[in-house]
Amino acid sequence: MKKCPYCLIEVGGNPEKCPLCQSRLTGEGEEAYFPVRDTLKFMSFLYKMQMFIVLSVVIVGLGLDFLFGIRLPAYPNLHWSLILAMWLLVAEFVLLRQFRPGTGSAARRVTIMVFLIILMLLVTAYFFDFMWLAWDWMVPIVIAAMGTANLVLAFLDKHGNAMAYLLSGLFFGLIPCIVRYFIDEKMPVAWMICMIIALVLFAGVIIFKGRAVAHELRRRFNL
Ligand SMILES: [Zn+2]
Repeated sequence: MKKCPYCLIEVGGNPEKCPLCQSRLTGEGEEAYFPVRDTLKFMSFLYKMQMFIVLSVVIVGLGLDFLFGIRLPAYPNLHWSLILAMWLLVAEFVLLRQFRPGTGSAARRVTIMVFLIILMLLVTAYFFDFMWLAWDWMVPIVIAAMGTANLVLAFLDKHGNAMAYLLSGLFFGLIPCIVRYFIDEKMPVAWMICMIIALVLFAGVIIFKGRAVAHELRRRFNL
């Protein structure tokens, strides 16, 4: 038995640290209760390694930009390192949430990720001057991809609330198309494709999951 010198408890097996206070245990251990998971340790190492590389890139980027004044030739007044840092830090945040249990269903994570991507895309487009490309092409493609991913999740994830995210995702896929049409009667090709995909997905959901849709709507709107 090992002992914790602070909590004065005995701990079975052969752990290194006290389960209560995380202090180093003293005394002789016995045969370990739980096997050591080498793959898990290696995954954890890889995860730390990528985080170290990403944070190094962010720090070096900020240094080159702000301290050495190195700018992109086409955008001499733009602090490019801030945009780079935004993308990398948000990617780390998303990755961190993937590995934390109890942060919601897969559909919820997909939806949050997509909204973050759209937001960052628009910020980047604003500073790099490709707003029309982002809004007319990239955003509808991302929204259509989100609808497709949520449809798959609605079939796979029996206990999650993929259905709710799928329905609201399809809804948000239609709104921008319609608004755009009323503003200038123009609908970029990608938005039209996005709308068609949303409608096809919606038809698929009604046909295959009609009862679940009705249940979800009743539950959400207290019908
Ligand atoms: Zn202790």
